[in-house]
Amino acid sequence: MGVRQDRPMERVRDLTKLPKAHLHLHFTGSMRPQTLLELADKHGVRLPEALTGAEPPELRATDERGWFRFQRLYDAARNCLRDEEDIRRLVREAAEEDVRDGSGWLEIQVDPTSYAPRLGGLIPTMEVILDAVDSAARETGLGIRVLVAANRMKHPLDARTLARLAVRYADRGVVGFGLSNDERRGMARDFDRAFAIAREGGLLAAPHGGELTGPTSVRDCLDDLEATRIGHGVRAAEDARLLRRLAERQITCEVCPSSNVALGVFDKPEEVPLRTMFDAGVPLALGADDPLLFGSRLAAQYEIARRHHGFDDAELAELARQSVRGSAAPPEVRSRLLAGVDTWLSTPA
Ligand SMILES: [Zn+2]
Repeated sequence: MGVRQDRPMERVRDLTKLPKAHLHLHFTGSMRPQTLLELADKHGVRLPEALTGAEPPELRATDERGWFRFQRLYDAARNCLRDEEDIRRLVREAAEEDVRDGSGWLEIQVDPTSYAPRLGGLIPTMEVILDAVDSAARETGLGIRVLVAANRMKHPLDARTLARLAVRYADRGVVGFGLSNDERRGMARDFDRAFAIAREGGLLAAPHGGELTGPTSVRDCLDDLEATRIGHGVRAAEDARLLRRLAERQITCEVCPSSNVALGVFDKPEEVPLRTMFDAGVPLALGADDPLLFGSRLAAQYEIARRHHGFDDAELAELARQSVRGSAAPPEVRSRLLAGVDTWLSTPA
């Protein structure tokens, strides 16, 4: 009898070593769970039980009650960010986590309105955030920029104020303008003036769309807000013509698989239409959205593409390139990251 040879373990490249850009991460949502506990303790805040357990909370945001619960937990976490030190810690730790996951460029979204009451107003808040970003970038070596995101539950005039604020800080690290919260409320076109202000000020337009509502919401982002990127956009997969349009115009969709499953947009990771969008030629930038609430960070999103959608290493490298190309990173950072992707792919596992 011959010696039976066991098949060697399939070796795969380490996805935390794959250079990539992270384009969809919210400010409070980026927090480490342990940090949340420590900040709650520091400020004497009583957290809802869902935020103090070892497991991420169970959420289902496809109905309004579920979305409300998600927002309530988010607000409870945000309520623990009260002073400059907290903001600095949050940004530094977000950067550290990103670096650990192979990110070479981070664009973090923030609605400064939520922090302004405790930090002395919108302008001091932006100053604190952008200072924190500068220090974290210096300490970790990660390139970090900011997207100011308006809240679609609020009045469009508030969004205009934020757009002007974002433009004012365009030379201090703000690169884009977003729109978040429940897509089922209000119309994208209510926010068209705010987006016009942002675009005219040289910012990229990156509203959320195609997450909780269907392809129409993505079309509205393109038609009414002239979006250059779409937060999520996954529901575009229901419309082949829309996918062609996104592909032709190379509109990057910031797809967040863990978030989609946690919020019940799709039941299982394999149902997130990563493959459909990728094969249609729509550029994708995988993102973690709110790791605090969804329990996984950036590299885990690429892991989902590998494990549940059969992306091989060449395709994963292409996903990483797409994230870099969709970013606002300056040319030298892009070339460095793209070269790093090639090195990752050409080095045997
Ligand atoms: Zn988001």
